[in-house]
Amino acid sequence: MPKIFELEPHVADLIAAGEVVERPASVVKELMENSIDAGAGIVTVEINDGGMAYIRVSDNGCGIAPGDAATAFKRHATSKIRSAEGLEAIGTLGFRGEALAAIAAVSRICLTTCEQGADEGVRLILEAGVVKDVAPAGCPEGTTIIVRDLFFNTPARLKFMKSNRAEGAAVASTVLRCALSRPDVSFRFIKDGKTEYHTPGDSRIDSCLYSLFGREFSSGLVSAESDDMTVSVKGYVSKPDASRGNRSYQFFVVNGRPIQSRILQAALEQAYTNYLSSGQFPTCVLYISTRPGDVDVNVHPAKTEVKFVSDKQVFDAVYHAVLGALDMFGAESGKQKSGKNASPAAAMGIPGDKFKSLTADEYKKSYGLATNIPGSLSGGSAINGGQSSAGGRINAEGQFSQQRQKYGNESLQGVINAAMPDSSNVYEGASPPYNATLASDAKISLPAYRVIGEALKTYIIVEYSNSLWLIDKHAAHERIHFNALKSDDYEPMSQALIVPIVCRLGISDVSIMLDNTQLLDDLGFTIESFGEDSVAVRRIPSGIDVGDTEAVISQICEQLKLGSYVNSERLDNIFRAIACKSSIKAGKSSSIHELEALTERVMTGEITHCPHGRPVSYEITKATLDKGFKRS
Ligand code: ADP
Ligand code: MG
Repeated sequence: MPKIFELEPHVADLIAAGEVVERPASVVKELMENSIDAGAGIVTVEINDGGMAYIRVSDNGCGIAPGDAATAFKRHATSKIRSAEGLEAIGTLGFRGEALAAIAAVSRICLTTCEQGADEGVRLILEAGVVKDVAPAGCPEGTTIIVRDLFFNTPARLKFMKSNRAEGAAVASTVLRCALSRPDVSFRFIKDGKTEYHTPGDSRIDSCLYSLFGREFSSGLVSAESDDMTVSVKGYVSKPDASRGNRSYQFFVVNGRPIQSRILQAALEQAYTNYLSSGQFPTCVLYISTRPGDVDVNVHPAKTEVKFVSDKQVFDAVYHAVLGALDMFGAESGKQKSGKNASPAAAMGIPGDKFKSLTADEYKKSYGLATNIPGSLSGGSAINGGQSSAGGRINAEGQFSQQRQKYGNESLQGVINAAMPDSSNVYEGASPPYNATLASDAKISLPAYRVIGEALKTYIIVEYSNSLWLIDKHAAHERIHFNALKSDDYEPMSQALIVPIVCRLGISDVSIMLDNTQLLDDLGFTIESFGEDSVAVRRIPSGIDVGDTEAVISQICEQLKLGSYVNSERLDNIFRAIACKSSIKAGKSSSIHELEALTERVMTGEITHCPHGRPVSYEITKATLDKGFKRS
């Protein structure tokens, strides 16, 4: 057996350095955290050349006593816990006493520090973790650490660095997140001689956001808040018309730390379901406070991801805070109704919009815990189930559910591919044509409408009453699929693939998918393990294009990753993904039978919005047309 040696301390430091110090941004993160821990009210971060050549972090915190300065660079040196009793603090806050040692091991360091009230400070020079010089120094109270030539003694690591521009961008985003997380601390970030950010540190979220993101971003926000016994949420979320094409402006701060969390992201986006269409993402800066024991920051080595003791509690708190904030945005998304709460821009006296948002409590009181947002996207010209805006259209609640029941039994393909027995386009009080055996117990009279045809391979044109109606066929079809998937007696129709599709998901995602084969089976997918990082898909639901398999599988995986239980919201997201991919695509022409089958579902009022919240139909009245032709 080979002999066992203890690692030289120097080697152990280098190994630890590999964990803590990945790139300049991770150095900056650790140094900023130390400054905050030292009680600083002002922190300055300066970098040159992406931080590879030069990083300076200065603060006005408590400083380090001259006798302790060298100790601070030893491994497991910390002033923040003293004994094993403090170990829980390690678990929850991530003090490990190794950042300075790790950074010093791979760079050249100059530390100057002076304790509050002391006459004199100390200067310490280190190279590759070895102290080269210690001398008394006259310096301001607080601490300045300069890190030069990062990874100069570990050429293998240097090779992994991206361009200075990319490393500098990563530092900037680290500083931004840190500054966002502490509006009570003033941060200045200087990059290659130019000040990029400067926050006031006046404890106001609005002024912090304004200084970091500027006026346009701030005026697109509305305040969100909720508070129950265990979780409090406050901050800002985007108005529906101020959404973005990606998630890069979603910021979450949990107990004072900037973190990433799929649960929080899902809670935010879920609240926007009826306000945004797919491909649009809300922005947010949300501060979540829990009891310290209710989160664990150590699941991620850089402490950027957390685990909540109760995902559901935190999910609900964020979801309702955001719903409450969005409540003022009615039918026409993006236009607020009225109110008193202000966006950061308005709160700062900058001309802008004024609004009111309901608190989560007010919201819950007025609407119960319903997940549908009442009133949203409902008015306007959409054919609207339950509201008789279009005159004589059928829509008693009873008929609505009767219909749903009826179609719940029918396979999707059956509905869509149904050959219509009546080739005329006019149905006057006809009984539903799909299934003769059901016709007798479903006495539903259809309104008199006429399908004129298809336009732009996207819209069905229908004449009804005194109007033309345009129906978005993809949106309508998507909703039909979505409802069918949701119905209790859904039976998937699958197609076996002659050549299985291999989806490369990565090791951890593969294991999540394999843990859920039963659910996937119920949805019409058969998957098997295929090597360590892939799955082979052998069957897919029949409506789905083979080419969309990988996309659907990864969307489902995204939802399954959110936690070990699949709640109804996540299941809905999975249904949405499947419904979207298995629906007739805009841009592809459809047969008249397809058009008619879809139209009927819309005209009975059964289908009003697609699962993403977009209306499926649009009315152009004869009066509008007459006006256009100046006939009136
Ligand atoms: P940790 O932060 O986990 O304690 P570090 O290696 O980051 O470990 O820092 C070691 C110790 O050095 C800290 O516990 C603290 O006492 C001291 N220290 C580091 N940075 C500062 C600073 N900016 N101001 C005051 N003390 C500091
Ligand atoms: Mg530290």
